[in-house]
Amino acid sequence: MARVLRVARSSSLFGLGSRFYSTPAEVSHGGGASRVLAKDRNVQWVFLGCPGVGKGTYASRLSTLLGVPHIATGDLVREELASSGPLSRQLSEIVNQGKLVSDEIIVNLLSERLEAGEAKGESGFILDGFPRTMRQAEILGDVTDIDLVVNLKLPEEVLVDKCLGRRTCNQCGKGFNVAHINLKGENGKPTISMDPLLPPPRCMSKLITRADDTEEVVKARLRIYNETSQPLEEYYRSKGKLMEFDLPGGIPESWPRLLEALRLDDYEEKQSAAA
Ligand code: ADP
Repeated sequence: MARVLRVARSSSLFGLGSRFYSTPAEVSHGGGASRVLAKDRNVQWVFLGCPGVGKGTYASRLSTLLGVPHIATGDLVREELASSGPLSRQLSEIVNQGKLVSDEIIVNLLSERLEAGEAKGESGFILDGFPRTMRQAEILGDVTDIDLVVNLKLPEEVLVDKCLGRRTCNQCGKGFNVAHINLKGENGKPTISMDPLLPPPRCMSKLITRADDTEEVVKARLRIYNETSQPLEEYYRSKGKLMEFDLPGGIPESWPRLLEALRLDDYEEKQSAAA
């Protein structure tokens, strides 16, 4: 772990944290995201949420909007698996059972990704799928300051269907979802309906499904997520950094509301006016 920490500490992405970070009051009550954006470094955000909730979708859109890398530790694990490197067999056994990879391996993969980004001049980040354990959160907290933690939520009932409906084009890399979600609201809970996000005809024959998106493995991932997420949420809540966000539906309903909650609804306009 010492090596891991040294790698992480030497990364200027992590090092940037000491230059400025928003106080909890700014994140939770004040100018929110726009206050963070007004300062002298790029955002350092974390996305939490169950498998299938849409962390990747929204983190990726925000990364494009804010010009910071979207770093998903699940993608780093899948890249390692695809590389057939020395870790690959060990990782595939863990991932295909829906279990968590060890903190040491995952922090190593993340540190390497951050170092590579640093070499390309990247700054700031939106982390997706990290931290997943308190140990990971503590390691992250030791080496940098996180401005904001967005906790995305959807009713448990739709998550399995959403995972089973996920598809990726193996050529362009874009993600789609073939599931039709329609959960009738009852006992005060809202109706959740999401249209499928279908691929264009050129991607249709190139769609792949993640090996760990089978019903059994998704259920194991959800169980493990529910067992491990509470202390993490509590940790960031106690620091005043946690923003809870109940997704109201699919992307067309959720994206504008998320931008509003992050006080980014006029960000795009301001950016183009300043250009
Ligand atoms: P999910 O849809 O379950 O959120 P991800 O794409 O984030 O899936 O991750 C895929 C798999 O990669 C996980 O099931 C786990 O085995 C591994 N993984 C990803 N991030 C972490 C992490 N921070 N800690 C431990 N294991 C991780």
